[in-house]
Amino acid sequence: MRMKETTISINNRSYKVHITHKFIKNIYLRFRNDVFYVSAPHLTTDGFIFRFITQSAEQLITRTEKKATLNRAANYLFGKKIERDLRDDEKKDRLMDYLAIKVPFFERKMNITPLYHIRVRNMRTLAGSNSRKTHTLSFASFLVHYDYAVIDSVIVHELAHHYEFNHGPHFYQIIYEYASNYRRLNQQMKKGIFHDPRNENYI
Ligand SMILES: [Zn+2]
Repeated sequence: MRMKETTISINNRSYKVHITHKFIKNIYLRFRNDVFYVSAPHLTTDGFIFRFITQSAEQLITRTEKKATLNRAANYLFGKKIERDLRDDEKKDRLMDYLAIKVPFFERKMNITPLYHIRVRNMRTLAGSNSRKTHTLSFASFLVHYDYAVIDSVIVHELAHHYEFNHGPHFYQIIYEYASNYRRLNQQMKKGIFHDPRNENYI
């Protein structure tokens, strides 16, 4: 086994490359903590290895960055940084505790009866949904990472569907009546910003 370290430049950024030559037939590549680890057969040239890395580098780097974003999300609770990551069941429980108080609060304000059933689900893209058929509101567990103001804006959005099925002007008229900062809060959520200082005085 022969080992050596070098660097490679990808998109104007320099990465460490750790090469191990072994008695193997194929070349293997891993990317961890910003370092490329290559295992290659003994006679593989550096040129070949560098071309091999370049081919898969972008995909590997993007995948790692995505993972980092998700991990970053795990240690935000209601817009505040916390010391440890939240497990999936904790996310659901904490969000449900909040929704159990806040959904009925807005239902009262918006004159909605009977009260909706509430569910928290692991949805990746949708923040919430309103099933009129089962009279159920579903919320994505990732909402637990955001400021209360953002969560409330999603609650108001889903409850507005009680009156308006489509996202037309009347629908938004209802929303702005109960969430005047809806536009900004919706942008905050779409951009994945868990905390905005402008929400600090929000109760
Ligand atoms: Zn909608």
